[in-house]
Amino acid sequence: MATSTTDAEGAGDGLSRLLTESAEETMALGAMVGSGLRVGDCIGLVGGLGAGKTTMTRGIVLGARADAEVRSPTFLLHSIHPGPVTVHHFDLYRLPQDTDLRTLGLDEALEGGAAVVEWPERASSVWFNGWVHLTVVGDSKREVTLELPFPLGDSGRG
Ligand code: ATP
Ligand code: MG
Repeated sequence: MATSTTDAEGAGDGLSRLLTESAEETMALGAMVGSGLRVGDCIGLVGGLGAGKTTMTRGIVLGARADAEVRSPTFLLHSIHPGPVTVHHFDLYRLPQDTDLRTLGLDEALEGGAAVVEWPERASSVWFNGWVHLTVVGDSKREVTLELPFPLGDSGRG
């Protein structure tokens, strides 16, 4: 699992910083995030190319017990993973700055499910109620900062 918790400044307001040492650890952390996802949650995954956003999304989908098959990045703009809480995966990489997420159907998606969004900086931040920042700190090490609208590991979905 996510090892060395270099615990957060501001733990208590839902912010925590962890170090993962493999893709599997990032997925496992994603699964903990996914298990807490609720209808209406919209989580932005921030991080450069290869930081692990899609890897974390795989974990989130698993943890939400939604249908797997998170396809590879970038050509797929929007994929849908039906489940107890349906997970919508958006990847805005190929879209311009100031993309209107409503035209992509995000508002409808959030009525019946939750969303995780790669490259959220392409769109307005008003849509998001949670953030995950991933930073490459070594070949297989990532610093992951979680700012979530629910306690991590809480699976009491609504
Ligand atoms: P893109 O911006 O291109 O969509 P991404 O942020 O979605 O990139 P991934 O597609 O998840 O990144 O790729 C991350 C790569 O880094 C994978 O090949 C994965 O195996 C590798 N990796 C190595 N260590 C880690 C780690 N600790 N966490 C996540 N991925 C890791
Ligand atoms: Mg990706």
